[in-house]
Amino acid sequence: MSHGKPDHETLDPAADHKPIDYPRPDGEVTFDLMSSVFLSNTNHDEDQPVHLKVADLELQKSSELGTYGGPSAYYCPAGVYEWVEAAEGKAAGMTFRINAQNCVHCKTCDIKDPNQNIDWTAPLGGEGPVYVNM
Ligand code: SF4
Repeated sequence: MSHGKPDHETLDPAADHKPIDYPRPDGEVTFDLMSSVFLSNTNHDEDQPVHLKVADLELQKSSELGTYGGPSAYYCPAGVYEWVEAAEGKAAGMTFRINAQNCVHCKTCDIKDPNQNIDWTAPLGGEGPVYVNM
């Protein structure tokens, strides 16, 4: 059975679409990402090896952000990826911030990144969300 093309090949350039103006979470029916990550009791050792690896940061900036509009900041359910202004200021452009401690290990980034440039690996010692307490 075929499922068509791989998921990462289904993204269009951001310029082909209008930005979506999502409503703010109301705290009753919809919730912000960080409140939901808090409920997952996600925990990682401070000094564990990096489990989210970006192979080519320049490609991430030119293509993932430049062409596709930074979808990682939208598809990651835990707000791990952010494009933020570089510490050196606006002229230095945007920098890719990875909040790996929030990762809930859904593996979406490994599947969805348009260039297959993000590699998710299993966290040390099975750390992450404590689903049994949810
Ligand atoms: S595995 Fe899931 S939660 Fe973790 S960084 Fe990737 S998309 Fe985000």
